[in-house]
Amino acid sequence: MKLYAEKVLVENQWLKNQSISIDNKGVITAIEPGMADGAEIIEGAVIPGMVNCHSHAFQRAFAGFSEYRANEADSFWSWRDIMYRFVAKMSPADAHIVARYLYLEMLKAGYTSVAEFHYLHHQVGGKFYDNPAEMSEQVINAAKSAGIAITHLPVLYTYAGFGKQAPSEGQGRFIHQLDQYQQLIETLFDSYRSDPQVQIGVAPHSLRAVSENQLKALVPFIHNLDANAPIHIHIAEQLKEVEDCIDFYKQRPVEWLLNNVEMDKNWCLIHATHLTDEEVSRLAKSPAVAGICPTTEANLGDGIYPTKDFMAQGGKVAIGSDSHIAVNVADELRTLEYGQRLTSHQRAVLTGEDSSSVGQYLYSHCAREGAKTVNQNVGEIAAGKQANLVVLDSNHPTLFLKEESFILDAAIFACDSLPVKDVMVSGQWKIIDGNHTDEATIVNDYLQVIKKLTQ
Ligand SMILES: [Zn+2]
Repeated sequence: MKLYAEKVLVENQWLKNQSISIDNKGVITAIEPGMADGAEIIEGAVIPGMVNCHSHAFQRAFAGFSEYRANEADSFWSWRDIMYRFVAKMSPADAHIVARYLYLEMLKAGYTSVAEFHYLHHQVGGKFYDNPAEMSEQVINAAKSAGIAITHLPVLYTYAGFGKQAPSEGQGRFIHQLDQYQQLIETLFDSYRSDPQVQIGVAPHSLRAVSENQLKALVPFIHNLDANAPIHIHIAEQLKEVEDCIDFYKQRPVEWLLNNVEMDKNWCLIHATHLTDEEVSRLAKSPAVAGICPTTEANLGDGIYPTKDFMAQGGKVAIGSDSHIAVNVADELRTLEYGQRLTSHQRAVLTGEDSSSVGQYLYSHCAREGAKTVNQNVGEIAAGKQANLVVLDSNHPTLFLKEESFILDAAIFACDSLPVKDVMVSGQWKIIDGNHTDEATIVNDYLQVIKKLTQ
């Protein structure tokens, strides 16, 4: 297959009048100037698909249900209670339908890969399903059905808090002992090792939900299965978590992690909101990526990641939509930048040597670094990469006749969401003119589940 486009973003530079060759495995084999014979003409600006480095798919079902004040100290922890009430009703079939709808929304928003941080494992009360991988398979199948490339990260969640606190009743569906968890991971590797659209990694939930011994056993375990498998962890999201960690380990969460585990390229630290200057420097110098979830962090009142200082020291950033209060690439990127403007009293903060455009710099950086967090060969339009492409609608009034250097600034800062026209994943069009082939069914099924869950 050959595509021809007037504007293509390649290595953070706009190239004009290019032909993109794609083989039958969905891999880009060449990008060449001029119109190749038989090329399909793409109308619009072509950019790499964005990677969503952090998703809890089932949480999409209750987005919008917790935006009211129920008590004086409404916080992350009261939001979590609402989440537990929904969790108590969701069957494997429901989880599939909710995830499939969410992944459809992601594709329409311009995400072509997702890391699913999956912790809804068992039946209500904690009994395992006959097939312990049931919920994982439902979510993976949802991604395959919608057409987004998934990196599935089953979560190891054993304790309610630091010092091996017993889990609460509401946490029953999340809980594994380490050996049970390792069996699940091995099962999933066996099932999906040869599937190009599925990667498997691990996610120790947080320092409060796994013990030191578990974490130190898990790292070599996954490394032996796959030396490139991603390892994601929630860390330093809330001040209470930081205080509890200092009480227990006498160190801050990220400090403890840096001191006790080798932070290699497989690690993605989700949130990492509360950092000292020293932690910022040490993390920035490590190969690990910070998985920032700007709209969720704003929604939950977590705090603002010190992105400016972190990126200035070479820190690597990816974006995730986490609780899915927004499924909107533009919203994540501009919230990331606006947080820095509001705290630094400057404009156009997050830029780099290769681009003075905030939109273009942040988009290219997060797509490229996000690709590392999912262990997928994506994130850039280049020979050898999967053809995960997003076509922006150049006739959208906000993009109309814009010079190339303004396209991503306009798309991110002046449009509600990216004006996505078409989306390709591994050489196959999944969204055409803003629509998915199975959209009516996917949406209708989702509405029926919401009806059931809210009754
Ligand atoms: Zn999360």
